[in-house]
Amino acid sequence: MTELLQELKDLDVAGKDIKTLYTEISALCMKYIAPKKREGRRAYYLSIEYLMGRMFHNNLLELGVLEEAEKILSAKGVNVAGFEEIEDAALGNGGLGRLAACFLDSAAGCAYPLDGYGIRYKYGLFKQKFVNGEQVESADDWLTWGDPWSVKREKEKRVVHFADMDVTAVPYDMPIVGKSVNTLRLFDAEGSEQAKKICDYLYPADDTEEGKLLRIRQEYFLSAAAIGELVEKYAQKHGRNFNKFSEYHSIQLNDTHAVMSVAEFIRLLTKEYGITFSRALEFAKHTFNYTNHTILPEALECWNYALMEKILPDIAAVFKTIQVYATREWKAKGCTQEEIAAMSVLHGNCLSMANAAVYVGEKVNGVAAIHSELVKRNLFPVAYKYYPDKFQNVTNGITQRRWLMLCNRELSALLDKKLTPAWREDMARLETLDTGDTAEFIAVKEIKKKQLADYVLRHDGVKLLDGAIVYAQVKRLHEYKRQLMTAFAILRIYYDLKEGKLPDFRPSVFLFGAKAASGYFRAKGIIKYLNEIARLVNNDEQTNKLLQVVFVQNYNVSYAEKIVAGTDVSLQVSTAGFEASGTGNMKFMLNGAVTCGTMDGANIEIVEHAGKENNYIFGASVEEIERLKDTYDPNAILDSTPELKRVADTLVDGTFSDGGKGYFKELYDSLTVGAHWHKPDHYFIFRDLPEYVDALIKVNRDYGDTAFAKKQMENTAHAAFFSSDRAIADYARKIWHIEKA
Ligand SMILES: *Cc1c(COP(=O)(O)O)cnc(C)c1O
Repeated sequence: MTELLQELKDLDVAGKDIKTLYTEISALCMKYIAPKKREGRRAYYLSIEYLMGRMFHNNLLELGVLEEAEKILSAKGVNVAGFEEIEDAALGNGGLGRLAACFLDSAAGCAYPLDGYGIRYKYGLFKQKFVNGEQVESADDWLTWGDPWSVKREKEKRVVHFADMDVTAVPYDMPIVGKSVNTLRLFDAEGSEQAKKICDYLYPADDTEEGKLLRIRQEYFLSAAAIGELVEKYAQKHGRNFNKFSEYHSIQLNDTHAVMSVAEFIRLLTKEYGITFSRALEFAKHTFNYTNHTILPEALECWNYALMEKILPDIAAVFKTIQVYATREWKAKGCTQEEIAAMSVLHGNCLSMANAAVYVGEKVNGVAAIHSELVKRNLFPVAYKYYPDKFQNVTNGITQRRWLMLCNRELSALLDKKLTPAWREDMARLETLDTGDTAEFIAVKEIKKKQLADYVLRHDGVKLLDGAIVYAQVKRLHEYKRQLMTAFAILRIYYDLKEGKLPDFRPSVFLFGAKAASGYFRAKGIIKYLNEIARLVNNDEQTNKLLQVVFVQNYNVSYAEKIVAGTDVSLQVSTAGFEASGTGNMKFMLNGAVTCGTMDGANIEIVEHAGKENNYIFGASVEEIERLKDTYDPNAILDSTPELKRVADTLVDGTFSDGGKGYFKELYDSLTVGAHWHKPDHYFIFRDLPEYVDALIKVNRDYGDTAFAKKQMENTAHAAFFSSDRAIADYARKIWHIEKA
């Protein structure tokens, strides 16, 4: 790397803007990054999303030159902070896409042979701003910054066939740098205008038939491009005998979006290589694995058979034949008709991608211990009965390189000093941190809070309260994540403050960041509501030195890096049983925030590792929620608890206005009346709200003591388990059976 640094020293920077420097420096680095493919078994990650964030600093860090490069550039008069303007590569919505990015980082970081396949969307997740407190979306034209970290592989393009058109899949390879250099291969679509549309946008709205067709096209495009390549390369080497395919390949399906790759694999082997269906199916069963990410029924993909048949007749036919083989297998096992129906790939008109993945997948995993139990018990109970060994758990993780070394260099330096830099590769060493010694940790937290405040001021024009406790809830906007419950909790605190009921309350900032899916009316209503609460609370002279609410715009990976480092209290308050894992919770933990949350997803394991006494856990457990389901009556709670009724009523009593859009009435009705598809308050906000308010106030009381800082440090000290280095090692051992280089 001394050569690279020398080249940086020689770089002529005069008169060049940040974009030009970004392009030139990235190109310099790329000369020193060479993917080396080892022979032998590899794993492949197929994901429709990759939420990579900014690659610039990450790659410099992985190359081991970040600090030195910044020194060299600063000495030349370059304002290195300018590189923070580089657009994120936001080819994903949230946790699922960020997980894919963390896994690639850790696989390269630990020298596991894992490559990724995905789609090179022209526009990433929309950009968000607020106008009048409402979300306004615009296209995320991330490529205006160029894509210096990718190499187009024109020669390796291949044609993907649909019944009504051919599309050319052109690979762009992004090196993933670590101890080894792996590849994320993203396919762009070339061809007719219609063909190019496939890669225009991440997740087109699929509420119309046209939207659904486009979605099917995206999923098949990714599947066919990736599988076509793997099968062809194998055949070039091993000929037409596919006996050994599964010895060399383990393919991980990140959720069900690429399940069509199973059908494509069987189609190719039977049509092009003369292999019988039953043999091809057997090979598939030893190659593919499936990760489930949600038990929300509305998120389990079902494609209409006729719709798929229209553009992909061969693929639809393969799924139908899989159903025939599966039914034969299930009858031989003695399954009842109901059991067969529950496991069916094709059921009536519906092609269940999840059932196909469970039937064919060698292993099926959930993403946190509790979630994996629910996957077995509630989602696929019949498959679990007949194939218990398929089902695994791999608790998610996050990469400490981006989520500590990069976003919190100050804490990293402190850990270096206390533990030696060995912790960077061996996170278990964090366990030896002396958490009784809090002074320097507190000083680092203060620096990160100041930096966060500066960033919020620059990006959102809001000055955070000086010296306040920072509580943060940042994640996709969804009812099950219960940002609305936090809104109610804040209002409760606000009214209590006004009535003098919280005499020793310490200044507190509630920070939100979230995008609402563009067709999700209630989610948009919650954003508007929180922004209205912010306006009320922040303008009230009586309380605004004590309580502040800030909803930042365009929450993304780069914003997350600032927020996780500068937060004291991580709000993770999903209804128990609904958050599969969460990974935001882990980022906060690693950076020394306490969790104020429910016993859901990975929160359960977080408190197992960091201690319940070092976090603020409240609310109904999974079991209690299951018991409550039939008898729960939110209106009875509201009628008997005037403090709760008062805050809920602000949705409809004129306290706030939604500008006549009907957002707030819709939210109110969802809680008190329900809808034809759900009972009132089906995420049990009013069950957990009183305990939530108590927990927030308890945090507020505890804050400021060294005992509180010790709790924060205990979280950092026990975060090793939540490194994606550990998660990827679990996949390598339990599922992929691959070895480190
Ligand atoms: C980590 C991350 C997420 C996932 O957050 P959860 O709290 O686990 O839902 C979503 N978006 C971004 C930008 C992230 O960095």
